[in-house]
Amino acid sequence: MATTNIKDDATTQAGEPVRFQAEIRQLLDILVHSLYTRREVFLRELISNASDALNRMQFEMLTNTDVVDPEVSAAIRITVDESGKRLTISDSGVGMSRTELVENLGTIARSGAQRFIENAKETGTDATDIIGRFGVGFYSVFMIADEVRVTSRSFRPEDEAACWVCAGGETFTLEASDRSHRGTVIELKLREEAAEFADAFRITQIVKQHSDYVPFPIYVGKLTDKAGEFKIANQQTALWRQPARDVKTGEYVEFFRQLTFSGGEPLLQIHYAADAPVQIYSILFVPPKASRDLFTARYESGIRLHARKILIEENCRALVPEYLRFLQGVVDCEDLPLNVARENVQSSPLLVKISRVLGRKVVDEFKKLALNDADKYLGFWNEFGIFLKEGAATDPEAATDLMELLRFRSTRVDGEVTALAEYVQRVKDDRKEIYYLLADDLRTATRSPHLDYFKRNGYEVLLLIEPVDAFLMANVREFDGHKLVNVASGEMKLPPAAAADDAVVEEALAGRDLARLIVKFKSQLGLRVADVRDTDRLSDSPVRLVDSGGAPGREVQRAMRAMDREYEQPKMVLELNARHPLLRSLVHLPEPSEILDLCVEQLFDAALLLEGLHPDPAGIVPRLQELMQAAVGKTTPAE
Ligand code: ADP
Ligand code: MG
Repeated sequence: MATTNIKDDATTQAGEPVRFQAEIRQLLDILVHSLYTRREVFLRELISNASDALNRMQFEMLTNTDVVDPEVSAAIRITVDESGKRLTISDSGVGMSRTELVENLGTIARSGAQRFIENAKETGTDATDIIGRFGVGFYSVFMIADEVRVTSRSFRPEDEAACWVCAGGETFTLEASDRSHRGTVIELKLREEAAEFADAFRITQIVKQHSDYVPFPIYVGKLTDKAGEFKIANQQTALWRQPARDVKTGEYVEFFRQLTFSGGEPLLQIHYAADAPVQIYSILFVPPKASRDLFTARYESGIRLHARKILIEENCRALVPEYLRFLQGVVDCEDLPLNVARENVQSSPLLVKISRVLGRKVVDEFKKLALNDADKYLGFWNEFGIFLKEGAATDPEAATDLMELLRFRSTRVDGEVTALAEYVQRVKDDRKEIYYLLADDLRTATRSPHLDYFKRNGYEVLLLIEPVDAFLMANVREFDGHKLVNVASGEMKLPPAAAADDAVVEEALAGRDLARLIVKFKSQLGLRVADVRDTDRLSDSPVRLVDSGGAPGREVQRAMRAMDREYEQPKMVLELNARHPLLRSLVHLPEPSEILDLCVEQLFDAALLLEGLHPDPAGIVPRLQELMQAAVGKTTPAE
């Protein structure tokens, strides 16, 4: 067979074909055979790789001058061969050794390849836009070239130059090269249908559009031009170092796109320079959407750390407080010692300072937005609110500030959210309490028996329906001098009843009737409850469950449950509404009564359900059927 001598590794002799790693083969197949509309992004990818290589070179030379061509300046050069339909992109970056060529361009599995392939199948034509994000950007050249030659010479004096050649298909070959200069040259023979890219004007435009802020000069010229006739096509401005007033909105958008390899627009940009306590220049973006991985511990930060313009770290987590991990952008620090090893950067005390400064600034900007453009803030809140809640729950230093930014559902404003300050404003008496209820979702919340009294008497209650709310309330106990009070707590002091309340009072069970009912509930539920007693807080609901004294607060229980499936719920107190018609009727059932037994179980189950505590909701169904049967009567129809 022809393929048996194809090697899968770098031990190959010059000229022998090496097979691409499996996913890369699939990826190439897709790129070669799809008709993408935005194929020009290949240039952005090559330039981005060249820029990375130049960055790494600058970084290397901070501590090591024993390199090939130490004097050569950092630049990218694109040569257009208009008649030969070829393009050449070269850089004076770190370069690659023969082994690196083999590994980087084809034999080592790239974690993003599979994910890109899946995405490409789903999104179709737009997939090219995102290829850079999956760490397989280099391969986008196969959308436009049918032959690719990569010649490279590593900066390490002992490494030899080599050349990687691929004409599509499943393999590439390696050749020797006598290149003596440091860096990489990529030669592309354009596919017939991509001949449009053999045009210096077009190339210049693509560079301006997609790579304007690359921090190295990108020279563009024709093959026939002399060296001096090549022109710089990009601005290479460090946008973050310019005064904010000189930067136009469109420039931020373009910078955001180049930074994130995306086509979207940021929700918000925060352009901020500070002199003390650290000297920094920064642009931070709120992206249009929260990416999924932000909800995992392995999330990747979208903030780059520069030190005096030199890129130090691509995904630097420590630059902002963790709850702001959705931000993307650039932070350039003047004070960071340049010779600090990459591993030590994250733990530098300077970064703690930066994170504090930026955290404060960002929260300030959010406050401004909330004040000046409530609608836009709401859009932001819907996407990122959960992170601010997390911040308030976990960062005591920022909590007070963050509480202002939080929004909650409420019994008062239907379908909308409210700020705590707005709630406080609506309080008519001199009450110093903010009432809230924790629940699993809005529907359960609105049906909660704990709301009976508050609804009846016109008191607003916040409905907290996100898992993070329990953590939040466990950590924050007040807002602006107002105590946050859980209406489900058995011990809370009730606000006064509205005057009209007396009118609706129904006759209540009392004396021996009530005592008998309580005994019945107690004996039947046994150890499943801590106690059974009557209450005057309910109106529409027959019963409710409250904490028994001494149990940890509701918030803590909820938080424990969220973290630990095995968490054993402390037993609760079942409170009976002595005025409820159902309970009043139950007393009159002659004992023993099957219906009474079933009703006691059902009422307890329903109370558990409403608390979101029922261990087996479907288990209620058989009993419901029994109840129906009992109500209809056991008699079999006459034959
Ligand atoms: P990514 O840039 O996300 O790592 P790419 O597919 O764009 O993925 O590039 C693959 C790898 O090839 C790079 O990580 C780099 O190691 C190497 N590479 C590509 N282009 C160059 C270049 N011009 N100079 C040095 N190394 C390069
Ligand atoms: Mg790349």
